[in-house]
Amino acid sequence: MREKIIEGYVDGVRRGGAGRRLVWSINTSTELMGRMACFHAVNTMSPHLKMQWWSQEEEMIKSICHDLEVLGGRSFAAVPVKVLVTGAAGQIAYSLLYSIANGEVFGKEQPVALVLTDIPSRLAVLGGVAMELQDCALELLQGVTVTDCDEVAFRDLDVAVLVGAMPRGEGMASGDHLGANVRMFRSQGQALEAYAKKTVKVLVVGSPANTNCLVAMTSAPSIPRENFSCLTRLGQNQAQAKLGLTLGTGAGTVRNVIVWGNHSDTHYPDVDHASVTRGSRRVGLRQALGDARLLTGDSNMGIQHQGVILKGSGRLSSAMSITSAVCDHLQALCYGTQEGECVSMGVISNGNCYGIPEQLIYSFPVTVQNGRWQIVPGLSVSGATRHRMALSAQELLEEREGALRVLAKSNL
Ligand code: NAD
Repeated sequence: MREKIIEGYVDGVRRGGAGRRLVWSINTSTELMGRMACFHAVNTMSPHLKMQWWSQEEEMIKSICHDLEVLGGRSFAAVPVKVLVTGAAGQIAYSLLYSIANGEVFGKEQPVALVLTDIPSRLAVLGGVAMELQDCALELLQGVTVTDCDEVAFRDLDVAVLVGAMPRGEGMASGDHLGANVRMFRSQGQALEAYAKKTVKVLVVGSPANTNCLVAMTSAPSIPRENFSCLTRLGQNQAQAKLGLTLGTGAGTVRNVIVWGNHSDTHYPDVDHASVTRGSRRVGLRQALGDARLLTGDSNMGIQHQGVILKGSGRLSSAMSITSAVCDHLQALCYGTQEGECVSMGVISNGNCYGIPEQLIYSFPVTVQNGRWQIVPGLSVSGATRHRMALSAQELLEEREGALRVLAKSNL
């Protein structure tokens, strides 16, 4: 059996993963079927997938490849995924941009075109960041655009990572902070609606991330709601690392800690469904730990205070760990979750089975297959956890009310 790998626009029959890349395959047992599948693929393309062929007939493959290139109008080997990072002159972006350009998110064979945007007064900084990226001479980086113009920034995007947000300055009232961000994310949502691809995946990082994500999503009605999510993965990673180190098994051995709720002090890490690798087995976390003190709801394992501790240590931002969480989040979205694994992300609450009100962006455990996430159904939830979930939902309802007031007042 011979194998030929083609970069490009592919849909078809999913055959499995290769490392962190998806491999899609079309079994070209008959030429006609192969051609039809390829035609379909070109029409439902996703630019960062890879296609794999199983066929012994090299001439036929060559001929189909030729047709595909003609149909697609360009070479299949070099279609970059176009990624926007907002707040690109900030702390998080500085670390994140390198990781994206270096292939940590979309794979080591997928070219990337980056778009960097920030407010006009930060354009000079952006220019410096772009120059530095260029000086890294990264093989996958096929272009860096620097702009403060929405039409340029949001045009034809495959992925938008919205990191920039108005910080809450000293003495700033929470309503004013929310208001500034609502206006910003309203305008970014409208720009997504006007200029981005309808298949764009939007990840909101800038705080308050859940409500910012809700505002952007509702401002871009022609983009599917499922394409929007916000980052809560940092809390999951922090909790898992802490538990793995406590157990002496290593920071990366724990999985399936669930972060429920808002990305704020009310978010809640739930370990009831978490497990740890012991040798070749996975063991329930509570069974492995055997120490209930670390797991009480009130302590929250200290992860809520991690940011405060980091700031106190003199660091301006925990950009490294946030970058890692953003990469984990995007990888899960693009390439799916592993068998038996769930990850936490803020997604639209509609249709959830955990009693969380609809029309909120709320952090749930999800699995992802073929680029689509699904909230994990039917998990048992303790009374204490349910109480914390409701508190966080209440906070989000209040933020949503505040956001609606801002939109109504500003006539947006
Ligand atoms: P930073 O202050 O270093 O950078 C923010 C950047 O955003 C600045 O360069 C600023 O000019 C820019 N910005 C402001 N308004 C903008 C606009 N309208 N368009 C584009 N850019 C704009 O902050 P940072 O450390 O990089 O953090 C960024 C955000 O991420 C903050 O809101 C922070 O609270 C949030 N955050 C989220 C998580 C999470 O897990 N969701 C974790 C940590 C931090």
